[in-house]
Amino acid sequence: MQNLDLLKSKLSNPSKIVITTHVKPDADALGSSLGMANYLIKKGHDVQVITPSEYPGFLHWMKGNDDVLVYSEDTHDTAKVLMDQADIIMTLDFSVLGRIDELGDMVKEANGFKVNVDHHLDPEDFADFRLWDTGAAATCELCYDLIVALGDADFIDKDIAECLYAGIMTDTGGFRHPNTTQNVHEVVAKLIAHGADNSRVSKEVYDKNSIDRLRFLGYALSQNLQVIPDSRVAFFALSEDELRQYNSKTGDTEGLVNYALSIEGITLAGLFKESAGGVKISLRSIGKFPANEIAAKYFNGGGHRNAAGGKVELSLEDTVDRFKSVLEEYKDQLEEEYKLL
Ligand code: 5GP
Ligand code: MN
Repeated sequence: MQNLDLLKSKLSNPSKIVITTHVKPDADALGSSLGMANYLIKKGHDVQVITPSEYPGFLHWMKGNDDVLVYSEDTHDTAKVLMDQADIIMTLDFSVLGRIDELGDMVKEANGFKVNVDHHLDPEDFADFRLWDTGAAATCELCYDLIVALGDADFIDKDIAECLYAGIMTDTGGFRHPNTTQNVHEVVAKLIAHGADNSRVSKEVYDKNSIDRLRFLGYALSQNLQVIPDSRVAFFALSEDELRQYNSKTGDTEGLVNYALSIEGITLAGLFKESAGGVKISLRSIGKFPANEIAAKYFNGGGHRNAAGGKVELSLEDTVDRFKSVLEEYKDQLEEEYKLL
């Protein structure tokens, strides 16, 4: 952890702090943002969380949700003023400013002390204080470590603990992915000791489905899911029409790709989702198969080895064709990783 003393001294006086995270925040992005926000407010700071875009309703239970400023909802001017006036700007769960578009430019231009906490690969070096560890399962895990390193473990209450717990729970796939280390279990044990109701958090995040979402899931599994013969690859390709037909909302396709990966014999799973002039791609893999390499090389994206994504300005059909044509290159690896299990 570099410059911890410098960060400590920056936080020793009440400051104006802006916290921001990546587009389409997930539980780790929002949980780390609101977890840190609740902690910093408790320490006497004036804190504003700004998300680049909206996020799913199953995250709205987190304390501080009502005060979040959503940049895409016509709050550009307010966001600019807050960024410019901030003494400290925290960027959480991403480390390439380009990922938050205009908001990233605002961070770049602002004079505040910049903090970056993240666990993604290939960070951009823009922060004055960086806690970056690709070995961490979640940014929430790193935020817990940071609060402890700052000597403030006692500040962690039920609300903070539940925000952080949520991010660790989802980024480990419910404590199932290979990133579920001993440290993960130790940190969540501490969060439970600080008051996190783990069963409630899991209910809020995983078991608050709308009937539309379940009907959509039924449709996707029975009509849309495709397994490419003899390839160890399965995927969904959803058009805007299909999404509209099932009244699909932000977050409704979250986790869908994992159903494709859960099929026996599958090494790589994809979800291709048509949206506003392009296609959003989600890839998931098992073992050492590099989903992030495919995302970076062919889909303008990146991510972790087993969970990556990207976006292209192609039709849905062309995107799927591109995906299929890439698979030949990975034929042996797709087979290899399956055998290693
Ligand atoms: P998801 O499939 O849940 O949208 O994203 C999984 C992971 O892929 C994210 O945690 C992030 O690391 C990465 N990712 C998703 N979309 C993009 C993208 O457009 N660009 C980059 N660089 N990474 C992405
Ligand atoms: Mn994360």
